[in-house]
Amino acid sequence: MTIDFNSDYKMTIGGVLVQTDETFNVINPATEEVIAKAPEASQAQFEEAVAAAKRAFPSWSARPSEERRALVSKIGDLVEKHADAFMHLLTKEQGKGRAGAEWEIGGSSIWCHEIAKQTLDPEMAESGEPDRSIETHRVPLGVVGGITPWNFPVLLAIWKIAPALATGNTMVLKPSPYTPLCTLKLGELLNQILPAGVLNVVSGGNELGAWLTSHPDVRKISFTGSTATGRKIMQACSSNLKRITLELGGNDPAIVMPDVDPKAAAKELFWASFQNSAQFCVAAKRVYVHEDIYDEFAKEITEYAATIKVGDGSQQGTDLGPIQNKMQYDKLQDLMADAKASDLSFLTGGEFPEGKGYFMPITIIDNPPETSRVVVEEAFGPVLPLLKFKDIDDVIVRANDTEYGLAASVWSNDLTTARSIADRIEAGTVWINEVHSFSPHVAFGGHKQSGVGIENALDGLAEYTNSRTIYTNHGAIGQ
Ligand code: NAD
Repeated sequence: MTIDFNSDYKMTIGGVLVQTDETFNVINPATEEVIAKAPEASQAQFEEAVAAAKRAFPSWSARPSEERRALVSKIGDLVEKHADAFMHLLTKEQGKGRAGAEWEIGGSSIWCHEIAKQTLDPEMAESGEPDRSIETHRVPLGVVGGITPWNFPVLLAIWKIAPALATGNTMVLKPSPYTPLCTLKLGELLNQILPAGVLNVVSGGNELGAWLTSHPDVRKISFTGSTATGRKIMQACSSNLKRITLELGGNDPAIVMPDVDPKAAAKELFWASFQNSAQFCVAAKRVYVHEDIYDEFAKEITEYAATIKVGDGSQQGTDLGPIQNKMQYDKLQDLMADAKASDLSFLTGGEFPEGKGYFMPITIIDNPPETSRVVVEEAFGPVLPLLKFKDIDDVIVRANDTEYGLAASVWSNDLTTARSIADRIEAGTVWINEVHSFSPHVAFGGHKQSGVGIENALDGLAEYTNSRTIYTNHGAIGQ
């Protein structure tokens, strides 16, 4: 059955496409036009979604792992088959340009194919006695709630759907109210191949998230979003001791050593910082540059920034799209007002253009105080502080002086020194001379308040399971 990606957005509950009485507007951030009305789930519809997932769990979890994983791989095929439609809709609702949409949708299908190859085999322990065996199996949890943000709505949903379903759980998925459309269409598409109730997609406001995190029949929440919301979710999940995986915010440092070519490094660091209009949890958000090359690096990154086109993602030639929503745009305006009031020095940007669309120019700030808001806060938009350093011990202290610990990068031709710096950074991922590499087979998670738990790799898969250990005494009783 063909799916119209341009209209008719419905929730998927228990295998049925569901409309609602209430709807909410979805806005194209490049034009501020309402592009669709998305369903606003009632409490009764939400309850039905959880009930449907609960009903589907016994037979889904009893299915052989190979069959479940084959279906997860097929999800990847379906995403690939509808890649163009997804990319077009993603640009309309999220704002990102074609290259960004290709990265996200391409990655989504790769993730399904690769996660489908992973298995959690039983572990046998040595009992030391010939007639006893001890086996530990990984068994699914039950109904999992998935909650996603608005920066990579499809990829981050897939990061939850693939491992949850592969391990035998069923799911209720809630996208961000700013970007629900691709996820609703994903639900509709997957409904063609998954048994009823295995994946339910509901849309609505933040209160829908709160219903999910406090529901007694939901056994786990896998959440990607801000640290502030992560704290609320952890608290709500305590009611029935839900398992949690929280992928939260970051304020990633990049350390640029004096032995690199400033021009080449400036280009790399530009994209490390501004990819997806810097609405990226692992964007380089503080760039520490050694004082010997600081001036040249600052000149090069500013000149490179001038070659980048910010605009409507649907227009050819656009490199970076708008800020995704008004809430984030207002936050960034406030941050810029503070930067100006604090007399910070701008290498470029800072002035918001007139006209339609939530556009913000690429903004680079010249060596602001370490305590300024643009350094301390996660901007989650295209504003980058460049910071000068002289001493390695000092820059490591500054890099680690944050509540966050998501990722970091070190740039140097001296790999021994780079590695010794990387070893001292408090972050879940540290890249040396590269950035933003991810793999379905490599653990991703935050230190400190950037998260709890891991996504991807076998460790990530195991987070969707409980262990069940079976001790068997093979000797006959009473003989
Ligand atoms: P957000 O926390 O505002 O919202 C994320 C999701 O949580 C949305 O679906 C929202 O509706 C829902 N939500 C809001 N309040 C809730 C509540 N009380 N209970 C349950 N759910 C609730 O985050 P955002 O603004 O959409 O995303 C930006 C943030 O996400 C940034 O901080 C960014 O760094 C982080 N992020 C982290 C990663 C990562 O992997 N670590 C990836 C992408 C984004």
